[in-house]
Amino acid sequence: MRDMSDTAVGTTTCPACGAAPAGSDGAGPRSCPSCGEKLYRIGGELLRHRIASIFLPMHVTAARLRNHLRRLAITRVGPIEGDCYFLPYYRMEGSSPEGDETFTLLAVNLGDERLERPFLPPADMKPFEQPARDAAGPSGEGNAPVRVLDPSMTPEEAAARVAPLGFKVSRPLELIHYPFYLMRVEDCGRIEGAWLDGIEAKLIRHRLRLAPPVPGRKTKAAACFFPAAAAAMAGAFAPAPFGVALVAAIWAAGAPLLYAMLTRSWRG
Ligand SMILES: [Zn+2]
Repeated sequence: MRDMSDTAVGTTTCPACGAAPAGSDGAGPRSCPSCGEKLYRIGGELLRHRIASIFLPMHVTAARLRNHLRRLAITRVGPIEGDCYFLPYYRMEGSSPEGDETFTLLAVNLGDERLERPFLPPADMKPFEQPARDAAGPSGEGNAPVRVLDPSMTPEEAAARVAPLGFKVSRPLELIHYPFYLMRVEDCGRIEGAWLDGIEAKLIRHRLRLAPPVPGRKTKAAACFFPAAAAAMAGAFAPAPFGVALVAAIWAAGAPLLYAMLTRSWRG
């Protein structure tokens, strides 16, 4: 945070043409009235606003997940379906502990460290447009839901969160909406969750049955506590329309995943 205020970053004018936007009240997406650049206003700053130009449809991601599971010798899973979330990331200029000059920081609190790592697979970006409701393709009798989450923290807050890890931010460059799928896997009548990115369908996180060692009572209690805390935080930070969905999603994914992490049945 101190780094950012010292260097007087952020811009209240269009980063593409330098025009001062009219009617700049409130946070959210907008277009520059002078040059048409897609912008996002957050915390008094105007950032370029980008979104992945192409992402995988739900059924392809589901097939990739099925392949992942097959490699783990999990073959008899039932239907696999999922929702597409465009999660907001700030692309920052600065320095990472590994010496990178730009990196991406998750701009919402999901309580899942695997989504917070600055590791996004490369994707072609285009100026932000709201994705079509059917953009993720068919799922069951309808289409897979597509949700675009607004940032719930400012660039300063996102920078402050990773400062202890050695990330130094000089300025935010863009707000990127990057696609992820939260897949529901039906396995022996139980629903389990897995996150995959929507560009390469890399498996970000899941818990599926791999004969975990029997956990102790304390481990079980801890595994139940953390998803509850994460869900509560997501509910508090997420924009109103998404709060409930996020809490549900995190319970679906977080509880079993954290349980799996603690029992070390699968890491990857
Ligand atoms: Zn402009």
